[in-house]
Amino acid sequence: LVALRDVNKHFGDLHVLKDINLEIDQGEVVVVIGPSGSGKSTLCRTINRLETIDSGSIQIEGVELPKEGKELAQLRAKVGMVFQSFNLFAHRTVIDNVMLGPMKVRGIKKPEAKNRAMELLKRVGVGNQAQKYPAQLSGGQQQRVAIARALAMDPKVMLFDEPTSALDPEMINEVLDVMTDLAKGGMTMIVVTHEMGFARKAADRVVFMADGAIVEEAEPDTFFTNPTSSRAKDFLSKLI
Ligand code: ATP
Ligand code: MG
Repeated sequence: LVALRDVNKHFGDLHVLKDINLEIDQGEVVVVIGPSGSGKSTLCRTINRLETIDSGSIQIEGVELPKEGKELAQLRAKVGMVFQSFNLFAHRTVIDNVMLGPMKVRGIKKPEAKNRAMELLKRVGVGNQAQKYPAQLSGGQQQRVAIARALAMDPKVMLFDEPTSALDPEMINEVLDVMTDLAKGGMTMIVVTHEMGFARKAADRVVFMADGAIVEEAEPDTFFTNPTSSRAKDFLSKLI
């Protein structure tokens, strides 16, 4: 569904992505972990072209990511993204936040957009917050709205970049539970997270990055019990 081939990216002299090769199948949940600065966010951002790449290719459903224009907007609509900061529109109600994308980008009519938004808000457990403004919600609730908003575009793949790291501890699980349900429901997901419990439970595959390269890839059980690279061993030993 998503294929990265020999992707390279520099920020000035800094080689942030080094020959990244990664294929993600339909329905697969890939958790990306690694030390701070290893390129995890940059990797996510290249997949919907918030960042350009210097060389290599990125394909979504076999279609090369276009550089710009209408084609890029269409392809990007297939990729939902949820960030650490929730990025909701502050002066719009919760339900408006979820309705606007489908109406503007996909031309969905208002009544339909509203029904679908309500359905999604219920699914992530914030149906009773629909008429509030984002600031009136807890961080965990806001992040669940952000997930509903991304889902409203009917993405083929969802990218999550540390979706719980700005949350108070008691709110982390409510967001992880929504993500776990999504994973079980067959959504294709790429998740950057420090939540190793989630990785063990929900991931089909763990990708370990260090210094801009994919150093190791394995099923979670194998990765956590028997990492092969010294970088991964070192990283895991510091988590406990
Ligand atoms: P963290 O776990 O801290 O979120 P990360 O693995 O997500 O780290 P990235 O944010 O992808 O790492 O950053 C990779 C490297 O690229 C870092 O050294 C960072 O300082 C650098 N970098 C990221 N964005 C930019 C930018 N826009 N301009 C210059 N350098 C950048
Ligand atoms: Mg990051």
